[in-house]
Amino acid sequence: MSIWARLKQARTVAHEELPTVDAAAPEPTEIYASELLDEHTCRKCAEIDGHEYETMAQARGDYPEGGGYQGCESEAGCRGTLVIMHEG
Ligand SMILES: [Zn+2]
Repeated sequence: MSIWARLKQARTVAHEELPTVDAAAPEPTEIYASELLDEHTCRKCAEIDGHEYETMAQARGDYPEGGGYQGCESEAGCRGTLVIMHEG
């Protein structure tokens, strides 16, 4: 059996043994906005810098997956991101 066939088989087995765990995924212990503050950072991003979120849902409201702060006023886009800390 080729390595690729083995990998595919291993993945299939793992998938079957692990049903949807998304609902049980633990919330991060800490979520906050981190903006890179420099002369290009817009006012909105400067304001949100360091803001803490209670849940990922709240955080994703301001910072959609793969994007910066949605209230950003900069045409070029600032370079803010979410900092997500997990316990351990
Ligand atoms: Zn901005």
